[in-house]
Amino acid sequence: MSCPVHYTIQAIQPAAHLFEVTLRIAEPDPAGQVFSLPAWIPGSYMIREFAKNIVTLSAQAGGKVLTVSKSDKHTWHLPAGVKEPVTLRYTVYAWDLSVRTAHLDATHGFFNGTSVFLCAHGCEDHPQLVDIRPPHGLEEAGWRIATSLSVAEGENGAAEPYGFGRYRAENYDELIDHPVEMGTFTLAEFDACGVPHAVAITGRHDCDLPRLVEDLKPICENQIRLFGEPAPMDRYVFLVMAVGDGYGGLEHRASTALLCSRADLPYPGMEAQSDGYRQFLGLCSHEYFHTWNVKRIKPAAFVPYNLSREGYTRLLWAFEGFTSYYDDLVLIRSGRITVQDYLKLLSKTINQVHKGSGRQKQSVAESSFEAWTKYYRQDENSPNAIVSYYTKGSLVALLLDLRLRADSKGKRSLDDLMRALWLRHGQTGVGVAEDGLYALAAEIGGVAVGRWLQELVEGTGELPLETWLKRFGVSLAWEAASPAPGIGVRTTTEAEGVKIANVFDGGSAQAAGLSAGDVIIACDGLKVTSGNFDKLLARRVAGDSAEIHAFRRDELMCFEVPLQAAPADTAKLEWVARVSKTAEAQRKAWLEG
Ligand SMILES: [Zn+2]
Repeated sequence: MSCPVHYTIQAIQPAAHLFEVTLRIAEPDPAGQVFSLPAWIPGSYMIREFAKNIVTLSAQAGGKVLTVSKSDKHTWHLPAGVKEPVTLRYTVYAWDLSVRTAHLDATHGFFNGTSVFLCAHGCEDHPQLVDIRPPHGLEEAGWRIATSLSVAEGENGAAEPYGFGRYRAENYDELIDHPVEMGTFTLAEFDACGVPHAVAITGRHDCDLPRLVEDLKPICENQIRLFGEPAPMDRYVFLVMAVGDGYGGLEHRASTALLCSRADLPYPGMEAQSDGYRQFLGLCSHEYFHTWNVKRIKPAAFVPYNLSREGYTRLLWAFEGFTSYYDDLVLIRSGRITVQDYLKLLSKTINQVHKGSGRQKQSVAESSFEAWTKYYRQDENSPNAIVSYYTKGSLVALLLDLRLRADSKGKRSLDDLMRALWLRHGQTGVGVAEDGLYALAAEIGGVAVGRWLQELVEGTGELPLETWLKRFGVSLAWEAASPAPGIGVRTTTEAEGVKIANVFDGGSAQAAGLSAGDVIIACDGLKVTSGNFDKLLARRVAGDSAEIHAFRRDELMCFEVPLQAAPADTAKLEWVARVSKTAEAQRKAWLEG
């Protein structure tokens, strides 16, 4: 049996945001043991250089200190010829409040393995043991542990459920796929299709836990049944961090780390479902769907992950886009939202895709491939240059679903395609080839459907949304977001005026020379303050022009800007009450699953 890699982790100085980690291996590589830390975390496609947070690092063997050398930003080497067991000891600075890294203070600790566990090269497939120790100086603070990492049953010092102690993973890949929360979180537990689920909420909050459970349970059960029982995990944990203002989620094989605004959680006595709570349920549904789609059904490019550099795939439209389609669809299918709510969410997605001209320049396949430098590194020009593989990918999923249903008279749907992916790839561990989805769509819907999907994915033409929604009794009309004229910009309010965040291609602001970052201080000789810019424009008509004064690099500049009619780029979806019996049945099957 291969000897385990043995880690300990302890919050040694919570106030200084420092974890201390030790890593022990019994048989170091005689040629010189190598260790490294990932440069990115699966699910978040950006190079993040986690190694920058390693503050100190030392190694010893047989009571002697070893010389450690580095060969690049995240790789450490021990000298050749070391025969005794080696212990590495290092500190990790953890002060990034996000779902992607690690965060520690005197109130709680959170970490992803990618931020704290160095990989011992050559031992990736060995069992990995982790002793999680109580925080130094806070031993009596009543902290508990929430994680989907397995307790090391039968081992010395094995952790009790939610307790400090020994945990275990089968290999390094598994070790870094179970984030850990420690602190005084509130906990709710429930069963979904017989699988134990838990929700741990950190941060001050007044969440109505029974209501949250009442909503989450049917969402989880709906998804387990969609792919087919049994569920692929023994248990599942939602790790929620509630803050004043925040939003984010990251998927893992048996858990998810979520960041949300505490105001979005339901509170005792809350009657109607708030938009924020609906969005939070959508986020939970999204990350949960990834348990199948991307954590087990994976692009071939991720089998295995190479975490030292970018992992390129043109398929994120299927893994993020299809997941985005199902996150809201499952809300209506599980009875959590109404048809009207669903159409509102769908129109929001359509509007996001149409808010810039980027969709005419970049396909969702390209957007996937370039996620590392474009989607994850957005700037002021992004609406003019890129399209989101999340939002457009979810509309591609919608179209494919509707066409499969319509062409087969309701016999087949996207659900069949997801189940085929699960059977052939999720359950076997075989990655999906870059053109695998076209072939599968052709197999389920016919050659023409495969080719059509490829066009939607690799092309930049407008999606035929009106045509396909109409066949399901939903009308789509385009209207202007506001009757007031505009100048083709998106602005943010700053103390000194109105700052231009984006200048849209083809708009009058761009033609007149206004740029992102300019701070507008006057319009037609009147001071522009927070909130009055749109009102000033609303009193004018398209075709007029406005004299706009703005600061750029502290220099006052004047621009003559023609006012333009607001573009008809806002989708209005309506449920057509009277439709044919066929459309009625199709619509019912689509939304009821
Ligand atoms: Zn996602």
